[in-house]
Amino acid sequence: MTVEPTEQGPLTVVTGGSRGIGRAVVEQALAAGHRVAVIDVRADGLAELRSELATDRLVTATVDITDPAAVDRWLTGLVAEHGAPRSLVNNAGIVRRGLLEDLDIADWRAVLDVNLTGPFIMTQRVGRQMIAHGGGSIVSIGSVASLAWTVGGSSYPSSKAGVAMLMRGAALEWGQYGIRANTVSPGYTDTPMTKATWADPETANPRLARIPLGRIAQPVDIARVVLFLCSAEAGYVTGQNIVVDGGVLLSPLLAPVARE
Ligand code: NDP
Repeated sequence: MTVEPTEQGPLTVVTGGSRGIGRAVVEQALAAGHRVAVIDVRADGLAELRSELATDRLVTATVDITDPAAVDRWLTGLVAEHGAPRSLVNNAGIVRRGLLEDLDIADWRAVLDVNLTGPFIMTQRVGRQMIAHGGGSIVSIGSVASLAWTVGGSSYPSSKAGVAMLMRGAALEWGQYGIRANTVSPGYTDTPMTKATWADPETANPRLARIPLGRIAQPVDIARVVLFLCSAEAGYVTGQNIVVDGGVLLSPLLAPVARE
């Protein structure tokens, strides 16, 4: 995509933005005139992002959102150079598979760490900046799994339900500072995280059959809703969990639940 230069736009932070849904959010934010700061654990993915988007409105850093000291160092530098963020998109996430009876405690903890503790660290740190600088918008990427358990999904559904509640808490406690906080919960989305599922007809077809709109989401389908929530048009929307799933949650009882 071509990114046109504009006057200084609002600063938006995107975690895990080197690929997948996060990258689509970065592209939509740049297209809307934002300056964008991306953090990710994938240094190679960030280098690729910088070279492909080639705009001085994009800054990137290799930061692990579960490391509060690293987040603090990065944020102090960001604010000194670019000012306080107006939007934060908590997008970075991981998945581990396993049935409850077999689940390794390390996998359970890893998912909670990245998907819930990471967004807490980011929300708290960036939220303090927003409190001090007149407010902003925080959007966390949840999942349909925040509303319906995924068999074999380990702690993933609990982590996503947790982050949706974290956003409700931020909305309640920080509305007085002009901060809105919401969750966007995608259904099946075509990203590197899910590539293997969609490449295999045996796993892809039963899932496709459950989607009323008949296709999986592209990352941009999710990113457009995130950008809406970051915009002034959503100025009275806070504490919500907006499902963007092609209707997949409408009929969970129609198809048998597969054991893996
Ligand atoms: P991807 O794996 O494609 O991209 C996520 C990026 O975040 C990766 O670069 C990943 O690096 C990075 N990341 C992981 N852990 C950290 C960390 N601790 N600190 C900083 N960056 C990190 O994921 P998707 O685009 O598919 O998913 C984005 C979000 O959407 C996630 O929260 C996911 O749970 C959610 N989601 C996705 C759905 C889908 O079908 N794809 C459906 C519903 C929700 P690395 O690869 O090294 O882990």
